[in-house]
Amino acid sequence: MAELTLTQVAKHFGGTPALKSVTTTVRDGEFLALLGPSGCGKSTLLRLLAGFDQPTEGRISIGAQEVANAATRVNVAPEARNIGFVFQSYALWPHMTVRRNVGYPLEIRRLPKPEREARIDAALAATALEPFGDRMPSDLSGGQRQRVALARCLVSDPTAVLLDEPLANLDVALRASMQEMFSDFHRRTGATMVYVTHDQAEAMAMADRIAVMNHGAIVQLDTPEALYARPRSRFVAEFIGEGAVVPLTGTTHGDQGAEATLLGTRLQVETDTQQPALACLRPENLTIAESGPVRARVERVTYLGGRYRLDLTAASGEALVTQSATRLSPGDQIGLALSAPWALPPPDRTHS
Ligand code: ATP
Repeated sequence: MAELTLTQVAKHFGGTPALKSVTTTVRDGEFLALLGPSGCGKSTLLRLLAGFDQPTEGRISIGAQEVANAATRVNVAPEARNIGFVFQSYALWPHMTVRRNVGYPLEIRRLPKPEREARIDAALAATALEPFGDRMPSDLSGGQRQRVALARCLVSDPTAVLLDEPLANLDVALRASMQEMFSDFHRRTGATMVYVTHDQAEAMAMADRIAVMNHGAIVQLDTPEALYARPRSRFVAEFIGEGAVVPLTGTTHGDQGAEATLLGTRLQVETDTQQPALACLRPENLTIAESGPVRARVERVTYLGGRYRLDLTAASGEALVTQSATRLSPGDQIGLALSAPWALPPPDRTHS
């Protein structure tokens, strides 16, 4: 396994930038998710790593080997990069059994049969497919087919595994069990994995770190916990997790930390910027308390199973979100106590 390094990598299609000067490192053995809205450049970045496309600018290295360099026109072919790729569509050979599908890359490389068989056995075991070796792809479920695709990319013992929305075609229950399978697989093999998705729950559930992308740039690369608790821009605050972003004014920095005015009340805030302008209020920052300093009206109540999501409008006009253990009704007036929210710089100082 190896780390993947991108240095000032840009990709233009007919003059339009799909990726704008991305510099980042995927650590050796890391599970990195690329997360962002449709068209933000996730698949483009993955295709550049795989070698299916060449960068317009910049350099890409896999371990110590430079595999692409726009200036010197170095461009190592995909099959020479030793990278595994799993797509949304499984691309299995319909006329071959599972075993033969999995072993096909080794057949092409003319590996001796005993070694081939041993590697196929290991790949089938890593993906819990041992009972299905003699089946045809048409006799498998969608999740099982995707596991065959993963096993097939494993037999070559790749340096890294790139996955482009591999669960997008599967139903919700199957996605959850496949997420566990990918996490297990990652733990057992220690493979460097880059996983493209636009589903934040999927990224949060599996990734060591998430690169949040927008308009062809990585706007924040952090652990799932840090992205949720300490977003660096309004875009990340709103894209990751639930909650509301509201304006704040009059920040002072004292011995007790920073204080600011938001929702018409003076409050302690957590921040690492000198000039916060916005606060990210997660549901857990708001507690229903009759004597709380903020008044709000319940607009909508949604049952989430064991608790309710409340969409609120504060007396000062901002939309807020919290949760409640008991059912309230639209139109109810409630009081809210606030715990210190995370404060952000103004939008024009970020990539949002
Ligand atoms: P999605 O989640 O919808 O798959 P994405 O984040 O993976 O989106 P990309 O597929 O990387 O986005 O596309 C980034 C931008 O580059 C988009 O505006 C897309 O239209 C454009 N693009 C991608 N491939 C090509 C191509 N071969 N020719 C022209 N434009 C392209």
